[in-house]
Amino acid sequence: MQAIVYRRPGVVGVEERAVGAPGPGQVLVRVHACGVCGTDRHIYHGEFPATEGVVLGHEYAGEVVTAGEGVTDLQPGMRVAVDPNVVCGRCRTCRAGNVHLCENLTALGVNYDGGLAEFSLAPRNQLYPFGEGLDWTEAAMAEPLACCLHGSDLAGIQPGMSVLVIGGGAIGLLHVQLARLSGAARVTVSDPLPARRDLALRLGADAVLDPCGLSTEQMRAALDGGADVVIEAVGSPATAALSVQAAAAGGTVIWFGVAAPAAQAALSPYDVYRHEITIRGSFVNPFTHSRAVALLEGGRVQVAPLISRRVPLADVPAILAAPAGDDIKTVAVL
Ligand code: ZN
Repeated sequence: MQAIVYRRPGVVGVEERAVGAPGPGQVLVRVHACGVCGTDRHIYHGEFPATEGVVLGHEYAGEVVTAGEGVTDLQPGMRVAVDPNVVCGRCRTCRAGNVHLCENLTALGVNYDGGLAEFSLAPRNQLYPFGEGLDWTEAAMAEPLACCLHGSDLAGIQPGMSVLVIGGGAIGLLHVQLARLSGAARVTVSDPLPARRDLALRLGADAVLDPCGLSTEQMRAALDGGADVVIEAVGSPATAALSVQAAAAGGTVIWFGVAAPAAQAALSPYDVYRHEITIRGSFVNPFTHSRAVALLEGGRVQVAPLISRRVPLADVPAILAAPAGDDIKTVAVL
């Protein structure tokens, strides 16, 4: 089979791989769609650790080909979305109930072979069946949506609240839709790219802002004094600082974007203290994958407008090497 393999920073290519046979508890999945994520770009650029020789791709869906020993509830042809994050279940954080913060966390597409290949071997417990009403590319979006659901849960959005989403990429646009489902009265999106602002309005944002040249005072004024919930979906020091400045007194800030590990942000501890701002990180998708699949199957979240490119597998290495530009979401279709 063809597979997209990570060798070292800056070296990702198309390689021929043997199709594996499922061991006990494993399932062989014929991959039909796999999203290209910002994390894949970070891996390509050496900014996120991955195992050398691994098949990339952690946002994928496909159909069951064969199931290994002990897997009795999945039949060939069943459609499945993959939760790539594998937890150990025995470390201190796992046993405290925070499985996603597992000390031994690994992931398909990062440490084990993932979905940017014609076939993938996945543990049964990582698979979530779905029906025929959902197409492959939409089902591949279950993973980023599940991560956003966790962030939305942590944000505690209540009906009537105001929400600011910083960053109108795929993640920001999923957060816009989840904020509306949570009952936010006003959802504002900040992004410097006009095309993303337009798409945000189409997907339910009430207002958009171009942050370029906007002072903190102007942004707070546009938010009627600040947003009850601010979701940072960029991952830069500047937007991390902005997210705190844009929060209303008593507000909650969710740091969702993936910053470079060495990045430092300049914050005012006094402002956080004086206005009782809550800052929370949100990491991956604990127990939210089923809800993500249910939201997609129920048509409650639109992901088709986020998919800006459908490409063949062999195009992925060049896409990882190129700047993201105004791309929203690229999905490899197999
Ligand atoms: Zn663990």
